[in-house]
Amino acid sequence: MSLNQAGISPLKVPDNNQIIYGLDIGGTKIEIGVFTNELQLIDSWRKPTPTRSYGEFVETIVDLINEANRRYSTKGLIGIGMPGIVDKNGLVKSANVPCSTGKNIIADLQDILDCTLSIGNDCRLFALSESVGGAGDGFKRVYGAIIGTGAAGGICIDQQLYKGSRGFAGEYGHLPVSAFLIDKYNLPLRKCACGLTGCYESYIAGPGLGWIYHYLGAKTADTFHFVKQLNAGDDIAKSAFNCYMDLLGASFASLILSYDPDIIVVGGGVSKIDQVIESLPLYVNKHLFSGVECPPIHRARYGDSSGVRGAAILRKQLIES
Ligand SMILES: [Zn+2]
Repeated sequence: MSLNQAGISPLKVPDNNQIIYGLDIGGTKIEIGVFTNELQLIDSWRKPTPTRSYGEFVETIVDLINEANRRYSTKGLIGIGMPGIVDKNGLVKSANVPCSTGKNIIADLQDILDCTLSIGNDCRLFALSESVGGAGDGFKRVYGAIIGTGAAGGICIDQQLYKGSRGFAGEYGHLPVSAFLIDKYNLPLRKCACGLTGCYESYIAGPGLGWIYHYLGAKTADTFHFVKQLNAGDDIAKSAFNCYMDLLGASFASLILSYDPDIIVVGGGVSKIDQVIESLPLYVNKHLFSGVECPPIHRARYGDSSGVRGAAILRKQLIES
């Protein structure tokens, strides 16, 4: 029997099961995940993201959904996650998919597909995925933090995403970096892609880790090289790790003081480095005043499939509300 990209036979769909599609729109690819109502992933595939032409962008999403409808002889429910901010009127602002900025993707897709769909920020949906059946399952207040090409997250309370007034609650990467640490490590203030200067993201996201390693004397800013050297006990890598962890710990201390979560679940490329996960609570506690403790910090359960899974959960919750 041939297996699909999700590693299982697409024929095993239970009768009368409501199928849900979760779409994860990234700057380079759009992935669709096909889920049962019990959130079991049964199929997934992807297409490159057209980022310049809005018409091609919408057409690609519609093609993925039509292909899923054809494969499973049904009209599945649709949830979508994408980078950027989607306001309550459905208008998008996204640096990764510039053609979508100022457009109302929900209205346009609903017109073409003739159905209701849900849309949310991809990092917020990561938090939702880890809150419902993920590493944060069983905890009331779950903060999900991505540390990858960027640094962003979201907070879920009772397995529901806290959306806030304008949809940006959880953008911890754009809090201002600690003046104490800039002074302590003699670091320059860096310009952030968001337009501000001195955001945490410029130091704690994956590229920021590489930058610190290079800034402190390494010949490269490559994070794989950094991990290899750290494991080998290299002095520059150890100094870079200490500086990086101090900054990451301070940024997490800020989000703990803001949201007071019961658990923090961490995903993204940097979360795959064992030493980061193991020592993070120690570094967080250095930046919390007496009487405030770092909550448990766990690595994400669903990793790279959190985007499609979170989008599917968002849509599933809409019919259950
Ligand atoms: Zn910023």
